[in-house]
Amino acid sequence: MALLRFDKVSKSYPGNPPALSEVSFSVEPGEMLFVTGHSGAGKSTLLRLVHLSERPSRGTVLVNERNLAKVRGRKVPLHRRQVGVVFQDHRLLMDRSVHDNVALPLLIAGLPGSEVGKRVRTVLDRVGLGGRERALPAQLSTGEQQRVGIARAIVGQPLLLVADEPTGNLDPQLAAEIMQLFAELPAGGTTVLVASHDLMLVKRMRRRVLVLDHGRLVDDIAPEDLAA
Ligand code: ADP
Ligand code: ADP
Repeated sequence: MALLRFDKVSKSYPGNPPALSEVSFSVEPGEMLFVTGHSGAGKSTLLRLVHLSERPSRGTVLVNERNLAKVRGRKVPLHRRQVGVVFQDHRLLMDRSVHDNVALPLLIAGLPGSEVGKRVRTVLDRVGLGGRERALPAQLSTGEQQRVGIARAIVGQPLLLVADEPTGNLDPQLAAEIMQLFAELPAGGTTVLVASHDLMLVKRMRRRVLVLDHGRLVDDIAPEDLAA
């Protein structure tokens, strides 16, 4: 059973060539994979279809065997709880502590306060920020801020985590550390899809890579074929 499946998915924005054309692939539970391609290739569009900030023009997207075309109205927030999202610019609340930023999705989901603190501490330990609960984002380095963004995205234990250029603002050393962190997440049961234009960085991770070119899926490379 696939955790994520695209079946001949196309997406056109008015007045532009198709951002995605007949894209099909499927992802098994617990897989970690990348989507790469030049700027404008359609990476962000693909991720937006997964967390329902856009809808396909044609074709079907399924998450955990559910056809997202049927997820409408009040069901959209419920779907988004199953899909954690990490952005390039992390989008943290700068006037709130690390703890408050990470706790937010749990509070919105209505989790009891006693449970929230425990879960936030566990997830901060997991991203290497144990003990930094009280810090404000501005007191952290750029790499640490992105770790908070990842903690916030995984604290609700989503089925699927999608990240759009999560290392775009980081120097190569920090970028490699953050990618390594993503690579470790499937061990916790989360399926992970990371978009990055940085093919060198992606190749070094030795994971499956989907390659987009002008909206077409032109390659689906298995880890063992990456050496070439
Ligand atoms: P990438 O993430 O690989 O850079 P995008 O998915 O952002 O690619 O963009 C794919 C194509 O779709 C580009 O030509 C882009 O200009 C276009 N595009 C993306 N979002 C929109 C939008 N909201 N409206 C119109 N065109 C868009
Ligand atoms: P990203 O690709 O990282 O999401 P972008 O700068 O491409 O960031 O897009 C930022 C916003 O602008 C998005 O909401 C996207 O839908 C919109 N956008 C991107 N390309 C276009 C475009 N060619 N025309 C109109 N809106 C666009």
